[in-house]
Amino acid sequence: MVIDSAIAQEYLRTGICASCRVIDLHAHYGHFGGIYMPNHTPEQMLATMERCGVETIVSAGHTALVDMVRGNAEIAEIAAQYPGRWYAYLTYNPNYPDEGRRELELYESRVAFVGLKFHPSHHAYPLTGERYRPALEFAAARRLLVLTHTWGGSAYDRPELLAQVAERYPEITFLAGHSGHGQFYECMEIARRYANVYLELTAAYAVRGLIEEMVDRVGAHKIVFGCDLPWFDPHYAIGCVVMTHIGEEARRAILRENAARLLAPRVRGREG
Ligand SMILES: [Zn+2]
Repeated sequence: MVIDSAIAQEYLRTGICASCRVIDLHAHYGHFGGIYMPNHTPEQMLATMERCGVETIVSAGHTALVDMVRGNAEIAEIAAQYPGRWYAYLTYNPNYPDEGRRELELYESRVAFVGLKFHPSHHAYPLTGERYRPALEFAAARRLLVLTHTWGGSAYDRPELLAQVAERYPEITFLAGHSGHGQFYECMEIARRYANVYLELTAAYAVRGLIEEMVDRVGAHKIVFGCDLPWFDPHYAIGCVVMTHIGEEARRAILRENAARLLAPRVRGREG
């Protein structure tokens, strides 16, 4: 096998892409009920990042999925300790509108936040539902990133629902978490059609030939890397991108540059 990519050769030789440090826009933090994740403390996650050549992650705390108030405070504090390496999403649970409003009010004071995280499937509430409106309006007013879980066939967050909110809120940059897993082609079409929708690769990277399809149909400039740290080992996920049959510029865009471009205007008062 001939490998014509300097990034791939470097990765295979050293285990990291030193010339293309990775930015992961879909990370988490902490325990998750019923699932064993051996390396979930801040120190262990940073050690994993070091080992795999990940420069920066953006996390939504696991705790925040079930206890928005406690979990957002926790991840905001942890991420703020690692300027330039760790940022966070404010997790918004539409089932608790009063608490949600108070969480949004705290956004500005928590410097590590660069956007919001929605998980409509987990919260069993549709992305297009009325109770997401305050968070969407908040994000639109500040031109934030919104990472939303998307999943094929879901009543709560299938790609067609993302298209509806992307149309309504062009000021928000939506990251389609998992790229609408199982409805990849519909999600690609939405990312192609809407300037404010990006494909996020968590779990999708493992589907053979899919990244090539995404680059062909949507363009490498609309794809961002993520791997759900500490769920999955970044070595595998990065390897899937590195070894895919795309150009070197596309590798660089997906692993780092698109995310750097999206983060730059949203990072507040922190030097990396
Ligand atoms: Zn996730």
